[in-house]
Amino acid sequence: MESLCRVRMNWDNFRHNVRLLQREGKTLMPVIKADAYGHGAIRAAAELSGLGIDWVATGTLQEGAAVRESGFQGCIVALLGLNFDTGALRVARGKNVAPLIHNWEGLRFAASQNTEDAPMNIALKVDTGMGRLGFPLSDMETVSAFLTEHPTLSPLALLSHFSVADEPEEDAYTRRQAEIFSRAADILRRRFPDMRCSLGHTAGLLCHAEISGDLCRPGLSLYGYNPLFGTTREEKGRGLLPVMEVSAPLLSVHPLHAGESLGYGRAYIAPDERMVGWVGIGYADGYRRSPSPQTCMCVNGERVPVLGRVAMQMTCIDLTALSTAGRLPAPGDDVYVLGGPGNAVSAQDLAGWWNTIPYEVTCLLGKNRLNRP
Ligand SMILES: *Cc1c(COP(=O)(O)O)cnc(C)c1O
Repeated sequence: MESLCRVRMNWDNFRHNVRLLQREGKTLMPVIKADAYGHGAIRAAAELSGLGIDWVATGTLQEGAAVRESGFQGCIVALLGLNFDTGALRVARGKNVAPLIHNWEGLRFAASQNTEDAPMNIALKVDTGMGRLGFPLSDMETVSAFLTEHPTLSPLALLSHFSVADEPEEDAYTRRQAEIFSRAADILRRRFPDMRCSLGHTAGLLCHAEISGDLCRPGLSLYGYNPLFGTTREEKGRGLLPVMEVSAPLLSVHPLHAGESLGYGRAYIAPDERMVGWVGIGYADGYRRSPSPQTCMCVNGERVPVLGRVAMQMTCIDLTALSTAGRLPAPGDDVYVLGGPGNAVSAQDLAGWWNTIPYEVTCLLGKNRLNRP
């Protein structure tokens, strides 16, 4: 889809964030799934490679294959696994992308399909309390025995995922997850001593590095956002710098006289003389249709409120204050919907207005990266 909005990435900030995360002294397997949370997985992988990082986690195997084809030479783990697709399995072996195997169906499928002599790298997942993907701890002995009988499957790493590592009052649960993980790892490591152990995501790495395993999987923090925002541990994510910036052009600037209304449903009626502008971004571009009344954009270095209802490809902003100050922008001027000078509109702000999390904000708006007008 064509879109008028412009998405820019600040890769200096990305590199800064990676270095900040490296301070914990762990090997990193940065998570670049879902096209690097909207930022572009290929470019992110190239940046990581340039920083000497030799593990990445993608979402699908195909995403992993694309990263491999782009020249990334380290280990690639596809977090969504094989999905019982023989084509995917061919990709996994051909491009050396390790599928995350998380249940017996997947393990048997991989073993039955992988009839060649050359070993195939895989990653394994144990469920320690996320209740999502993973073998139960009680299956670890049989998984280990199965792998011993199928030497063509070569386990690179054991993974699990924390569910509440960002919540201080849930530390007991997090510690229990780490304990289950370490028991699973002990069992597998008896036969596979070189297997890496990967537990912590951003919150794990920042709050529980000592129990996060030797291979950590930060995602959100790479892109400059702090999953600990609003908790008593917010400080631990200090210093991260946002990578994504999204702007859209002003299409129209005009007065709205007292009593006149704006857009569908006449959702805004001018109480007095106003100056308004229509910006070329709407819900088709991932800009949510029902934001809270506090929602702002940034133009001419100033935060301005969104007015009325967001349309499919247009949204209205209130330019009255800028007009009064003699700094009225003109059609064609850029309006920041995310970022702007001094990060005027952060993904955290938008997440608050949209009643969601920064992860969803960058995934939604980042898609416009692919839609250059
Ligand atoms: C998305 C994801 C991560 C990264 O989590 P962040 O909170 O973004 O750091 C790590 N591991 C798994 C399995 C994931 O799905």
